[in-house]
Amino acid sequence: MKTSETEISIRGLHKSFGDNEVLRGIDLDVAAGEVVCVIGPSGSGKSTLLRCVNLLEEPTKGQVFVGGTEVTDLDVDIDAVRRRIGMVFQQFNLFPHVTAVENLTLPQRRVLRRGKEEAARVARENLVRVGLADKADAYPAQLSGGQQQRVAIARALAMGPEVMLFDEPTSALDPELVGDVLAVMRMLAAEGMTMMVVTHEMSFAREVADRVVFMDEGRIVEEGPADRVVGDPQHERTRHFLTRIL
Ligand code: ADP
Ligand code: MG
Repeated sequence: MKTSETEISIRGLHKSFGDNEVLRGIDLDVAAGEVVCVIGPSGSGKSTLLRCVNLLEEPTKGQVFVGGTEVTDLDVDIDAVRRRIGMVFQQFNLFPHVTAVENLTLPQRRVLRRGKEEAARVARENLVRVGLADKADAYPAQLSGGQQQRVAIARALAMGPEVMLFDEPTSALDPELVGDVLAVMRMLAAEGMTMMVVTHEMSFAREVADRVVFMDEGRIVEEGPADRVVGDPQHERTRHFLTRIL
């Protein structure tokens, strides 16, 4: 599904929190339809990298482009940018006091100003996509972790994003619930969604990712096809990391 068109472009990205330089010059392009998995030890800056792409964090230096728009341009409409980028977190962050379908309709109504009927239709379509049509009226607490995460994915999809960012979407799940969430992500990849996925699911990375990026201490140490980076890493730090997680 990958095309030659660049969807996400990250140039010379630095991010510091006080004295702590967390991103130390990241350059990365993601083509339209490409799936890039980001791996690396805890604290290496993976979440911060994703959060800089949709401006949940403001970069200290450097540029980020999404679909040709420089999102780091100070004059950019941040809300307009965020609408084009869906994000899914480790902790699903659903609204606990409303049902699954309302979790999908509320942001469409508030942010996209969609009418009631259109929002409800799009919500239903997306619950079907993630296999949860029958859970529309359930509250988050009545759903398993895997179901909650699929609602969170559907909620992001209902906004019609160009790009999806996933930050360890299966790390909080019981092992038997991981597969259903990965299946939804596999479907999105097959449909041609542009995706950046922070994950430790190496079998998913090998099967679905067009490219794997290994980060350590705020830098990209190594990147390439999943089979190469995971199967035949060139750098000692990558090898060391992989032996600890595989
Ligand atoms: P990873 O996702 O790879 O585990 P993070 O991007 O979450 O790494 O964190 C990288 C470093 O940035 C860590 O040292 C973390 O403590 C620090 N950090 C992340 N977010 C903040 C924040 N909002 N304020 C201060 N420090 C932060
Ligand atoms: Mg993280």
